[in-house]
Amino acid sequence: MTLVVLILTSITITDMKDTINELMIITMEECGELTQACSKVLRTMSQEGDVRADALDKLIQEVGDVMCMIELMEDHGLMKRTEILAGVDAKRAKLRRWSNLIPKRETWQEILANEY
Ligand SMILES: [Mg+2]
Repeated sequence: MTLVVLILTSITITDMKDTINELMIITMEECGELTQACSKVLRTMSQEGDVRADALDKLIQEVGDVMCMIELMEDHGLMKRTEILAGVDAKRAKLRRWSNLIPKRETWQEILANEY
């Protein structure tokens, strides 16, 4: 009985290890492809900032591929949706401070000043 439990435990651990290996390898590959697609958008963008249709299509495809891998990491119990969303919130807070991608929050003085 103990031997059976040990063998089954060993198989489960090996399965989980294989699953994580596969998840990590494919995620790394997809992140590389997304990096490439981002580069292609920049390389092919016009002076006016127009993004070429084929470059945008590729970008959308690779974003989908990466999002799929994130979902699969969640499906296989590597992380919880709530942890991912907490990370998204934390990144948004950093970007609000250090980039112009997310508008700065108005101070209460600005909110009051804009009411009138
Ligand atoms: Mg891909």
